[in-house]
Amino acid sequence: MDLIAVQSVRVARSRSDLALAPGEAVIGGGTWLYSEEQAHVTGIVDLLGMPWQPVTRSADALTLAATCTIQTLRDLPDSPLFLQCADSLLASWKIQRVATVGGNIALSLPAGSMTSLAVALDATLVLWTATAERRVPAADFVTGVQSNVLEPGEVIRAIEIPLESLGSSGFRRIALSPLGRTGTLVIARPGLFTISGGTHRPHQLRFEHWPSAHALAAAVDAIDDWYDDAHGSPDWRQAMSRRFALELLEELA
Ligand SMILES: Cc1cc2nc3c(=O)[nH]c(=O)nc-3n(C[C@H](O)[C@H](O)[C@H](O)COP(=O)(O)OP(=O)(O)OC[C@H]3O[C@@H](n4cnc5c(N)ncnc54)[C@H](O)[C@@H]3O)c2cc1C
Repeated sequence: MDLIAVQSVRVARSRSDLALAPGEAVIGGGTWLYSEEQAHVTGIVDLLGMPWQPVTRSADALTLAATCTIQTLRDLPDSPLFLQCADSLLASWKIQRVATVGGNIALSLPAGSMTSLAVALDATLVLWTATAERRVPAADFVTGVQSNVLEPGEVIRAIEIPLESLGSSGFRRIALSPLGRTGTLVIARPGLFTISGGTHRPHQLRFEHWPSAHALAAAVDAIDDWYDDAHGSPDWRQAMSRRFALELLEELA
C-alpha cells in the first residue's frame, strides 16, 4: 500500500548510513512495512544496500545477515529446520523470495518462525547502531507480541548460529487450516525443547539430559502466556504443544 506519510527514501550503503533521523524506519523486504498504514514513519532507510553477505561460515558458526532472504535460508543444506521454519510462515514463496530473516525477527510476531528457528538453535543476534554493537541471545530478544529489546536506532545486523546446534532435531507445527497461521511450533534438540508460535514469546525448556515425559509435560504446562486470537485458543495451543513435545521426546530420545 502507499505510505502517504513518507517524505524520504534512502538506501543505506555503509554503517554511518544507519544513523536514523526521527521518523525514519529501516526496511528489509518490506513485506510487512508496506502491508499496513505506518502513520509514524516519515522516512525509509533501505538495508538491502548494505554490503552484507547473506550467509558466511566460520569454524564454529553459520552467520546469516539480517538481510538474508527467507528463500536463501530455505535452500541451505545445513539443517532441515531451515526449510521447515521457512515453510511455517503463512506467507507464500512470493513473500519468501523478498522477506528477510532479520525483518521477520524484528517484527516479533508470535508466528515469526525465523524467531522460532533462531531461539531453537541457540543463535546470537548481533545488533548495530551506526557506532555501536551488542549481542543478545535470540532467546532473550522477543519480549512479547511485536515487542523486543531493540533500542531506538538499533538494527539487527546478523544472526549467528553455532554449528554445534545443527545436529539432530525434531519439528512439529500445526495451524487451524492447511495453509493457516501457526497455532504452535515445537522444535526439539538434545536437551532443549523450544515452544513458540502459540505463545506471546518463545520459550526454551532446557534439560541436562532427556527429561521424563512427566517432567516435560509439566514444563510445557508451566508456560503461562498462551496466545489467544482467531488462529487458536490458548487451551488448544497448550494441548497441542504438550502433545508435540512428548512425541518429539519419544522420537529423539
Ligand atoms: C501474505 C503474508 C503472510 C505473512 N505471514 C507471516 C507469518 O506467518 N508470520 C510472520 O511472522 N509474518 C508474516 N508476514 C509478515 C512479514 O511478511 C514477515 O514477517 C516477513 O518476514 C517480514 O520481513 P521483511 O524483510 O519483509 O520485513 P519488513 O516489512 O521490511 O520490516 C518489518 C519490520 O521490521 C523492521 N526491520 C526490518 N529489518 C530490520 C532489521 N534488520 N533490524 C531492525 N528492524 C528491522 C522494519 O522497520 C519493520 O518494522 C506475512 C506477510 C504477508 C504479506
